[in-house]
Amino acid sequence: MRTRFAPSPTGYLHVGGLRTALMSWLVARQSKGAFLLRIEDTDQERSVAGATENILKTLAWAGMQPDEGVMLQGDSAVQKGTKGPYIQSERQAQGLYGKYADELLKSGHAYHCFCTPQRLEEMRKKQEARKQAPMYDRQCVKLSPEEVDAKLKAGERYVIRMKVPHERIIAFEDEIRGKVQFQGHTVDDQVLLKSDGFPTYHLAHVVDDHLMEIDLVIRGEEWLSSLPKHLLLFEFLGWKPPRYAHVPLLLNKDRTKLSKRQNSVAVEEYMQKGYLPEALVNFLALLGWNPGTTQELFTMEELVSAFSLDRVQKAGAVFDTEKLDWLQGQWIRKIPLKEFMERIRPLVAEKYPDAATDKMLEKKAALIQERITFFAEAPDMLSFFYIKPNVSLDLLISSKQKVTKENLPRALEVIENILKSIPGKEWTSDRLLAAFQEKVKEGEWKLGQLLWPLRVALTGRAYSPGAVEVAEAMAEEQGTEAVLQRVQTALALTTS
Ligand code: GLU
Repeated sequence: MRTRFAPSPTGYLHVGGLRTALMSWLVARQSKGAFLLRIEDTDQERSVAGATENILKTLAWAGMQPDEGVMLQGDSAVQKGTKGPYIQSERQAQGLYGKYADELLKSGHAYHCFCTPQRLEEMRKKQEARKQAPMYDRQCVKLSPEEVDAKLKAGERYVIRMKVPHERIIAFEDEIRGKVQFQGHTVDDQVLLKSDGFPTYHLAHVVDDHLMEIDLVIRGEEWLSSLPKHLLLFEFLGWKPPRYAHVPLLLNKDRTKLSKRQNSVAVEEYMQKGYLPEALVNFLALLGWNPGTTQELFTMEELVSAFSLDRVQKAGAVFDTEKLDWLQGQWIRKIPLKEFMERIRPLVAEKYPDAATDKMLEKKAALIQERITFFAEAPDMLSFFYIKPNVSLDLLISSKQKVTKENLPRALEVIENILKSIPGKEWTSDRLLAAFQEKVKEGEWKLGQLLWPLRVALTGRAYSPGAVEVAEAMAEEQGTEAVLQRVQTALALTTS
C-alpha cells in the first residue's frame, strides 16, 4: 500500500495533520508499503520559509519517517525516490501540470475563463444576496473557439476551469464514510490552473497521486466536499482513482471544530510543553479510532498491528486534553528509571547546581516518577532535597487528617521520638512505617495524624512523595540528624 502525507508548508504542523499522517504511516507499515511525503506549495503566497523542515522534524519527533519523497537528512530536507520531484513547485517548473490542463481542454472537460476578479466578486455578492451557494456562473463556457482564440491573442488573463457535468451523479465508497453521493449541478467549475500558470491544489494533487501511484488517500473530512471534483478529474484523465478515507474532524470540548481559541493546535506547542511523542501519538491514534478492546496504551508497533480504518468512527472526535495528560503520565512511568533520571538531571541542575553531580538523584527520581506529568516539574518536586523548605503552620494542620492546632505539637513530639528510637542504619521506609504503625496500635493516634505533619515538615508541601520514603532518602543523603532537625523546626513553629 502506498500512502502519502501532503502538507502545505504554510507554518506549523497542525495536530489534525499529524493524526492523518499517523494513519497513513500505520497503513503503509501494516502492508509493508511506502509512506510518501509530498510538499504542496502551489500557493506560493502562503508558503513559509523553513516550514518544510519544521514539518519533517515534527514528524521525526513523532517517530514517522517518510520512506519516499521529501525527508530529513541531518537538518535539511532532501528528496528520495523514483517518482520525484516531490515538491509541487518543482513539478510545476517542469511543466507537469500545464500538460494535463491542456489535455483536459482538448477533450472538452475544461475551458478558458477570462472573467476578471472584479466580475467574480460582483457575481459572488449577488449570489450571497440571493442566499445562493457561491458558484461560478459559467459565463465563459459560452465563448466560441474563435472568441477564446481572439482573447488569448490579445493577451487577456485567464484561468482554466474544469467543466462539471451537471446531469451526473457522482457516487463513491469512502473507507470511513461508506457510500457518498454528489449531484453534479451542485459542484463548482473548479479553477484548475491559475492565471500565474500554477495549478490549484485540486489539479496538482490528482496528477501527483496518480503519477506517484498512491493507493489510499487519508485526509481530513474538510476535503470530502471536493471529492466529486477529484473523482471527475481522474475520470477525465482516464485514470483509476485511489481509495479515499476522509477522517472525521477534531472537536473542542464544546463540540465545535478544534480551534486555537480553545486548544493548542500546533504540534510544536505540545513538544515545547514537554509532551512525550509516545503520549501524543497514542492520544491521536485513539481520537476517533476504537481498538475494539479495553487497551488504551499503544506503542507505535502495537498501533501498526491493531489499527484499522474500519474502526474509525464517522462522528467528530473530541480533543480531550485530560486524556492526553493521563496518557502522558502513563508514558512517563514507563521510562526506565535511569533514563528518567538523566532526563530530569539537567532541568534540576539548572535550578539546583548540586544536582549535576548528585549521586542520590536516582533515588530521588524514583520518588517522583510515579506522580510527575512533565519533566519540567521535577526541580520543583525535588526542591526540598536541595533547600530547606518554608514550612507554614497552616499546612501542618489538616482537617482531613485530623491534625489540629491543639494536637500538632504533641504529634510532632511523638514523630520525633519515633524517629529517634530507630538506629540510623535501619532507616528504611518500611522500618519507619512499621514504627509509626506500632504507635497507631496504641490507640491514641491515627496514621495520617503522624505522617501528614512529618511530610509537611520535611517537604513544606501539600503534595509530595510519601513521608517515610522522603525520610529514608533524606537520611541517606544528609543523615538522620538533618531529618530530625526539620521535625524540630516544625515543632518550634508551634510554640512561637
Ligand atoms: N495540501 C493539502 C493540505 O495541506 C493536502 C490535502 C490532502 O491530503 O489531499 O491540507
